[in-house]
Amino acid sequence: MKYHIWTVGCQMNVADSRKLAAGLDRAGFTAAGAMDDADLVVLNTCSVREHAEDRAIGQLGRLKKMRAKGGAFKIAVMGCMVGPRADELRRRFPYVDVFARPQEFAPILEAVGIADTGGEFWPATWAEPDAVTAFVPVIHGCDKFCTYCIVPYRRGRERSRTIDDIRAEVEHYCARGVREVTLLGQTVEAYGHDLPGSPDLGDLMRAIHDTPGLARIRFLTSYPKDMTARIIDAVAGLPKVCENFNIPVQAGDDGVLARMRRGYTLDDYLAKFALVKDRIPHAAMVTDVIVGFCGETDEEFGNTYRLLERLRFDKVHVAAYSPRPGTIAHRTLADDVPADVKQQRLHAIEELEARVSAEINAVLLDTVQEVLVESVRDGRASGRNPAGKLVHFTADASPGDIAAVRIERTSAWSLQGTALPASVPA
Ligand code: SF4
Repeated sequence: MKYHIWTVGCQMNVADSRKLAAGLDRAGFTAAGAMDDADLVVLNTCSVREHAEDRAIGQLGRLKKMRAKGGAFKIAVMGCMVGPRADELRRRFPYVDVFARPQEFAPILEAVGIADTGGEFWPATWAEPDAVTAFVPVIHGCDKFCTYCIVPYRRGRERSRTIDDIRAEVEHYCARGVREVTLLGQTVEAYGHDLPGSPDLGDLMRAIHDTPGLARIRFLTSYPKDMTARIIDAVAGLPKVCENFNIPVQAGDDGVLARMRRGYTLDDYLAKFALVKDRIPHAAMVTDVIVGFCGETDEEFGNTYRLLERLRFDKVHVAAYSPRPGTIAHRTLADDVPADVKQQRLHAIEELEARVSAEINAVLLDTVQEVLVESVRDGRASGRNPAGKLVHFTADASPGDIAAVRIERTSAWSLQGTALPASVPA
């Protein structure tokens, strides 16, 4: 039998799809390049933005037509579109065979005759890596309930995997050529609070740090309140951990933060930012921002803009607010910022980000950057430096090598250069 998995959304979804594929491969299935050739089609969906849901609904329309023409394949919908109220989805899409919540692999496997997944996180079923980097979910779910966010309703409460389970997965990857792992969680610093002895993210990093073959450890995504000095010190003290923090601020105004129920004030955020920079002055900082949230005034937006001007993040992920049914904001707050104003604010932040990123990257001209080679084509290699910046360069290198690259050109989006002879083969 053949399967096809279509995936949209965050890295957690990508990791889930890869895990499902690994389990199906192990059960004797093979991957089909296209939906038309598959006996099982899985749509791994995202609800964080309306656009992502629309894309999945578009795919469902296509599958419905294929079914109407007599296609005898099974359709499964998994991921964040499937909440506790799958009944509504069942009514709307009656031709779908299985609905499964994120990480709920069992119903899909049962639908194709595979009975036992051995527990919630399907231990010991790991993807076969096809790159030198791999994503490793370490904590599932979220307890924070920010008013705009659907994740806690769809992914459930925070549940950490054990250190032993994660270490075994990292060893599995590194034995197959992976050199960099990214530890994933919606709020990754919450890792371990629900485990016996309450290990933290730093303990986990220490436990996997000396895995043979592993060169780099990254972690995503930080939640300001969960970030502790102990974790920051672990990042500073462990050589393989990239000093690269992705700490969403979402807004630079206390009124907006309160309406979002982010659980911190601007001063709290600034104190956490300063704590990181105090311990690790050269840390690369990335943030997420939502513009046009319910009731956001020009002045409130101006506060966010000025915060970004002041903190000068290496990268800013910005999105215009779109209400998600089922969230607190959708139920209790008016989505009252006009669409054109949201777009203006979005573009203002994008322009600021392009300018600041270009300035930060320009400082790297003529420096030598350590780059983990991720791909090579026609003598041109691409990879990232520890700060996560994309580097394109000329080199006789292979994926997995660590190259020393002299930077000859910079832009807001990438660095370009030439490898020095000192590069270290994988
Ligand atoms: S911290 Fe807030 S925004 Fe992030 S996943 Fe949890 S509820 Fe959503």
